[in-house]
Amino acid sequence: MNIQQNVLRIQHRIEAACQQAGRASNTVRLLAVSKTKSVAEISTAFEAGQSAFGENYVQEGVDKIQYFQAQGLQLEWHFIGPLQSNKTRLVAEHFDWMQTLERAKIADRLNEQRPADKAPLNVLIQINISDEETKSGISPHEMLNLAKHIENLPHLRLRGLMAIPAPTENIAEQESEFKKMAALFEQLKQAFPAQPIDTLSMGMTDDMPSAIKCGSTMVRIGTAIFGARDYAQK
Ligand SMILES: *Cc1c(COP(=O)(O)O)cnc(C)c1O
Repeated sequence: MNIQQNVLRIQHRIEAACQQAGRASNTVRLLAVSKTKSVAEISTAFEAGQSAFGENYVQEGVDKIQYFQAQGLQLEWHFIGPLQSNKTRLVAEHFDWMQTLERAKIADRLNEQRPADKAPLNVLIQINISDEETKSGISPHEMLNLAKHIENLPHLRLRGLMAIPAPTENIAEQESEFKKMAALFEQLKQAFPAQPIDTLSMGMTDDMPSAIKCGSTMVRIGTAIFGARDYAQK
């Protein structure tokens, strides 16, 4: 597993997908999903020029954030897992982004608990775009109400939307879900012209080109950078 090579390879794949879609390659950011991976593996990716990392488990993420802080290194940390209300404080105090916001109550807690000396917490609303019963995220018709709620919270900054569509290898099916997300993203931008809404987080290792074709501005890539995850060793 050569993590440095993988980071470069993914950057090239992003550029190629952008070119195919007629988009400038600097319009898509790469988030390296480092859940279950060690600080040594994250350091290797960082040395290859990767600066934004995504974590799914609160305590694991906080341990890594504190490790790099102690080294004096500036990494950008995104929380991308399900968040229970008793864990909001750790996210508010340590992360830069929270991508899985789906409840007003969680938004209120994050807003209250965000330290005053930190920049507002960047948040994305998670949409359950494939309407899966077991999946997190709100349904599309609830989006504007939650956004309105977030707009009034001074320590949160609404940046856009995030989704994890039902996995499928069928390209047409991938694109149909991503296009729905792109339409919602447009609707959100139009409804909140004063908010800095610039981020549509969608696309993972297996569906990245479709996501970029449909307007993703942030792809979240784990396996193609760090290799398969071993949850047993966690
Ligand atoms: C694990 C995870 C990813 C990365 O998935 P890969 O298929 O390994 O690229 C992306 N987004 C979220 C929310 C995840 O939990």
